[in-house]
Amino acid sequence: MSRTPRPLVAALGLALAGGLVLAPGGTAATATPTAPTAAPAAPAAPAAAAEAKPIAAPPKTATSTGYGGAVSSVDPYASRVGLTVLKNGGNATDAAVAMASALGVTEPYSAGIGGGGYFVHYDARTGTVQTLDGRETAPGRMPTDAFIDPETGEPYPFTPDLVTSGVSVGTPGTPATWETALRRWGTRSLSQALQPSIALARKGFVVDDTFRQQTEDNRERFSAFPATRRLFLPGGKAPAVGSTFRNPDLADTLTAIGRRGTRAAFYTGPLARLIARTVQDPPTSSSTTLPVPPGFLTVRDLRDYRLRAQAPTRSSYRGYTVFGMAPSSSGGSTVGEALNILEGSDLSATDEPDALHRYLEASALAFADRGAHVGDPAYVDVPLRDLLADRFAAERACQIGDTAMAKPTEPGDVDDYDGTCGATAATTEPAEDTENISTTNLTVTDRWGDVVEYTLTIEQTGGSGIVVPGKGFLLNNELTDFTTVFDPADPNRIQPGKRPRSSMSPTIVLKDGRPFLALGSPGGSTIITTVLQMLVNHLDLGMSLPEAIAAPRASQRNTATVTAEPAFIAAYGTILEDVYGHDLVPSGDGLTSASDIGAATAIRFGRKGRVVAVAEPVRRGGGAAYVVRPAR
Ligand code: GLU
Repeated sequence: MSRTPRPLVAALGLALAGGLVLAPGGTAATATPTAPTAAPAAPAAPAAAAEAKPIAAPPKTATSTGYGGAVSSVDPYASRVGLTVLKNGGNATDAAVAMASALGVTEPYSAGIGGGGYFVHYDARTGTVQTLDGRETAPGRMPTDAFIDPETGEPYPFTPDLVTSGVSVGTPGTPATWETALRRWGTRSLSQALQPSIALARKGFVVDDTFRQQTEDNRERFSAFPATRRLFLPGGKAPAVGSTFRNPDLADTLTAIGRRGTRAAFYTGPLARLIARTVQDPPTSSSTTLPVPPGFLTVRDLRDYRLRAQAPTRSSYRGYTVFGMAPSSSGGSTVGEALNILEGSDLSATDEPDALHRYLEASALAFADRGAHVGDPAYVDVPLRDLLADRFAAERACQIGDTAMAKPTEPGDVDDYDGTCGATAATTEPAEDTENISTTNLTVTDRWGDVVEYTLTIEQTGGSGIVVPGKGFLLNNELTDFTTVFDPADPNRIQPGKRPRSSMSPTIVLKDGRPFLALGSPGGSTIITTVLQMLVNHLDLGMSLPEAIAAPRASQRNTATVTAEPAFIAAYGTILEDVYGHDLVPSGDGLTSASDIGAATAIRFGRKGRVVAVAEPVRRGGGAAYVVRPAR
């Protein structure tokens, strides 16, 4: 099958090496900006569109097997958008951007142009994995004590003060990520890629339980902002299940971005000024009792936002090569280190509880090192090579015994290791983990064998709670991922212009140089353990990919207790507690879907172009995985 020729700018983009900084639009920061990709003007929305019927919800198919390309996401609308792009000859990047923007419409509390994320791309022609770091950045004027209440001298309480605030809003990276990804690897213009989500926002989608529940969960803080209340609580109520939700403001914003490019229509100009004003002086209702501390984001921060193109992390695990997201995310280094630690034991030969015990211990050790060493590499020295060194992992694995070690456990000594068992150095206490369980993830492959794994977020479910007035999208509260209280030894301390440490772990696994598996998940810092557990389930414990995704989860992030889904506790709690000495506590309230850990997505690559696309079957309402040509 012949490939669609790539546009010149995309071909040139491939020449950009790791570590380069990209301006919005994908041009190297030092280069003269290229003209926006010539794009057909987006058709104007018909006046009657608002009255048109909503787009009906596609089926929630959790597993699909077939050929010619595949998509998976937590949302059937987004997955169908991606599938349509693939069927119409688009490639994986075209589909991924179209899906991501559709998620910004149907999953606006988890993702959208007000947030950031990490885009991992496998190019079948060159056999290379490359990544885009579209993480939000701290404003250039953000003081290091920004999270200390000037009135009390004490840290702002995380909830509600920091969560619903201007001070936690970072400069969004998602618009730049979409534009740059398309220029580097896509065949469609940004305008073309945004058309399906513009239609979805204008015509509307059918509200499901998850959307309604997430709206209800945010009722108090959404009510604090007239613009948010008007959009998400029409008539003062969360939209009913089965009703139509339209977002014409977002349709207009996306149309402008598609027509004029992100630099003119988002990072500079009237929208940039409005975003900065909204952050610096959050437009609250007079009746709210929420404090809503103002933020520091300026038009200069938006104008100066730079995407980073950088090399992925790379580690080998039992003959597979695992590519992940390098810092500013801790995903790649922490998943990779834990796998290296686990590689020393043959998990397929041991019984399941013992394998799970080792998985929990390896995860705790890797999290200890993450806390001590990982932050934005533009600001702190991250010893990535050491963290991913087999000898370092071998030494860390010495800590794993027949029963659970005391936690929090200490980080290893990255300056002095030789792979043999000995003492490890104690340096820091792990900072409190304040990440939440929002975010969304998608996996795509096309008929040419390209793969995209993309995790994007606005941080909390509902982000900062602040809709940019009249623009139809929520601003992130990603800066809450920084450690609240400044400590000069903490790699994740607040610094102006810095990216807060993430846990997002979009992962592509190759075997013999060809794609074997692509996977990722939402879920704050549990993203790391979810990706790790799915890998162990599938590669070591003999589970099929659908089983590996559906299996109950447990997350050990170097804390005294293991957070586990109730089904995990029911299945393994007794033996892991009584025999191995772990202390398991139920995630969420232990009763409802709030206890879900990670609605993941994945694609497994088989022989002769056969793929198995898998979405979460139950968590967060279940997702949708489709293939272009189903296997018979
Ligand atoms: N802020 C999180 C991170 O970057 C993602 C948000 C979440 O999943 O809660 O790791």
